[in-house]
Amino acid sequence: MVDRSQEVARELCAFIDASPTPFHACAEVARRLARAGFVRLSEGEPWQRATPSALARGYVQRGASLAAWAAPEGAEAARGWRIAGAHTDSPNLRVKPCPDGGRAGLRQLGVEVYGGVLLNSWLDRDLALAGRAFVRAPQAAEERLFLLARPLLRVPQLAIHLNREITTDGLHLNPQVHLNPLFASDGGEQPAFRELLGAALEVEPGNVLSWDAMLFDAQPARLVGQDEEFVSSGRLDNLCSCFCALTGLLERLARREPLRSVAALAFFDHEEVGSASSRGAQSGFLRDVLERSILARGGAREDYHRAVAASVCLSADMAHATHPNYPEKHEPEHPVRMNGGPAIKTNVNQRYASEGESEAVFLEACARAGVPCQRYVHRGDLPCGTTIGPLTAAGLGLRTVDVGNPQLAMHSARELCGARDPWYLARALAAFFE
Ligand code: ZN
Repeated sequence: MVDRSQEVARELCAFIDASPTPFHACAEVARRLARAGFVRLSEGEPWQRATPSALARGYVQRGASLAAWAAPEGAEAARGWRIAGAHTDSPNLRVKPCPDGGRAGLRQLGVEVYGGVLLNSWLDRDLALAGRAFVRAPQAAEERLFLLARPLLRVPQLAIHLNREITTDGLHLNPQVHLNPLFASDGGEQPAFRELLGAALEVEPGNVLSWDAMLFDAQPARLVGQDEEFVSSGRLDNLCSCFCALTGLLERLARREPLRSVAALAFFDHEEVGSASSRGAQSGFLRDVLERSILARGGAREDYHRAVAASVCLSADMAHATHPNYPEKHEPEHPVRMNGGPAIKTNVNQRYASEGESEAVFLEACARAGVPCQRYVHRGDLPCGTTIGPLTAAGLGLRTVDVGNPQLAMHSARELCGARDPWYLARALAAFFE
């Protein structure tokens, strides 16, 4: 196969730049799916009345979670699924409901920390603002995405002269007091946050009812390194996996070879805060979509259970590459390097859902695609992270393998991964969609 690594890495950068929030990420995925002939189904409509083409290639959105499927032509309803799962959210700073404040002649926004943020990485960075808002409309409140991509906000760190401990002791950041960004000098006619939002949405500020607004690094994603062999960007965890799953699916469909299983995507919001929400991986979202898609294609409840028994989920979430400056933080016999291909993540205590059977499925897919595969195991003396994998596995009884592209600086505002790995993972996923 032609080496499209660089081209795909640049596409990843464009995808991430178009996706400053999980809401924008879903909109971007939906846009690309629609271009490939996928039809949006609404959870509030009867799917039995959907067109055959929508049932063959459909997608559903629940807030910032999205599921899509492509069924093989003429497949019986009990046909198994190959599902690529990932999460759309990333740790970041989010605007509080009453955010207007300030001190020392400066206007500031009150923010709350979402997920496990590396707080120091948000300092001294030109920050922009995006999200969704609900605006008053004649019938019901209307959802609108907004994007203020210009450098608007800044969290300046304390000068070294005022904090002598910094050099030896690192930063002590209190999330309540040290992270509120400034955006204007006080005095004169400075807009309140609601006015800022009203202007961006072109509505009266009084008609802005509510928002899910968040900050992001205003600097676009880019390739770095001697031969541009790395991707430097925010939100690689986990938009890189969403992008690879989507690219793998579209690549597979473009080959026009018949599918054997239903090829599906399941992208969840709220992974970084534990997945317990109406649309997180602990919700019934994937189960509902699976079941309704099977029923609408003429299947019965029994077909749903048969389909689940024949299905495999590949949970894609970024993996930790071995850090050259902290080798002691890694399992010495399981080194993982960037640009060495995706890593299967294993944890016998089921923090990752991989086990022999599901690992074999992925190893075979990698072999078919000619993609190298690495193995990740967390050190036994450090608490291990987790993914959506164990949740979808437990919630549906799905055989699951946890896989991820290697990266450094996970949960930083600016992360780093290999530029060859996105195309590796996309190809492995195209092969996984058998
Ligand atoms: Zn993640």
